[in-house]
Amino acid sequence: MYAQYEKNRNTLAATMNAHVQQDVFYANMRKYHTSMEYALDNYRIPVTVYEKLIEAVHEHMDTMHHYVGLRKKLLDAKELHMYDMYVPVVKKTEKTYTFEEAKATVKEGLAVLGEEYTGILEEGFTNGWIDVYESKGKRSGAYSWGAYGTHPYVLLNYNGTLNHVFTLAHEMGHAIHSYYSDKTQEYPYAGYGIFVAEVASTCNEALLIHYLMEHAQDKQEKMYLVNYFLDQFKSTLYRQTMFAEFEKKTHEIIEAGETLTADTLCSVYKELVAFYHGDEIVVDDEIAMEWARIPHFYNSFYVYQYATGFSAAIAISQKILNKEPGILDKYKQFLSGGSSKDCLDLLRICDVDMESPKPVEDALEVFAKSVAQLEEMIYN
Ligand SMILES: [Zn+2]
Repeated sequence: MYAQYEKNRNTLAATMNAHVQQDVFYANMRKYHTSMEYALDNYRIPVTVYEKLIEAVHEHMDTMHHYVGLRKKLLDAKELHMYDMYVPVVKKTEKTYTFEEAKATVKEGLAVLGEEYTGILEEGFTNGWIDVYESKGKRSGAYSWGAYGTHPYVLLNYNGTLNHVFTLAHEMGHAIHSYYSDKTQEYPYAGYGIFVAEVASTCNEALLIHYLMEHAQDKQEKMYLVNYFLDQFKSTLYRQTMFAEFEKKTHEIIEAGETLTADTLCSVYKELVAFYHGDEIVVDDEIAMEWARIPHFYNSFYVYQYATGFSAAIAISQKILNKEPGILDKYKQFLSGGSSKDCLDLLRICDVDMESPKPVEDALEVFAKSVAQLEEMIYN
């Protein structure tokens, strides 16, 4: 696949170069110090949030490298390549859930959020919020949408797998976030920013994983769940931060008055892949072209929010599971906040300060613990 991109490497590099130049031009015109500062100012996020995310992930790179090594062992691979990072290492559970069972499971998994929350969940389940199954001409995937003044609408293409049970919990997280914000805020402040958008959905998934782990019937099911969680960390926290770092570096090159050639883009990207995956992986030349197929790079300084949002969600879910006094009220306030405050201040309601490295560090600790847990189950 990358050979095809490779054939067009100079065109793709010229396109990327022009895009980054445009960012830098706009930032300069508006008297910002850097293009990153300009992009982040859209939601009034200071650049330190971005920098601290990268720093914290760097400091916990050994855990990721350890996980890569574990993957190599589990696959019994002589060599591990980037394409092996997506091969399932734990056997899938064959278990399927009817939609009735899925709703019941999600409701039980989210019971820790209190009766009011599960009451709204039930309201959504029984009052036509959800378009459940595939049908001819229906679009794929899943999302939550709606308009101010109506209840949220959720689109699913439910197929009975455990993955789709998580999707239900995820989308209902978005839906109930909108429900609370729409109900509490006037129209101009009801919508919420991307920086906080994935918090409610991911928090629900983390709570559901915890519940399912506690109720897993055998080791196989537990292993599947831990591995599911680890995959999320890998793809959301590490991989998106790697992308964020790539954007930082490419913008700095243009800001230094240089040009992004295909060679430059490939070498910057390949170095990052090697750094993020460690010595246990063979970094093939082909992967150096991956930057060319990531559409988000044309939406500059956007993807870091997946990593910060994920960390904030993990932090909040830990507080809820630890039954921190007052956390449920605070969380409801957060969900009701819409865009009435800056994103960072909304998260501060739940005592999550994204200007400190703590939430990211704590999330990475959860990752480290989960890696250890998987290892323990495999070797004992
Ligand atoms: Zn989502």
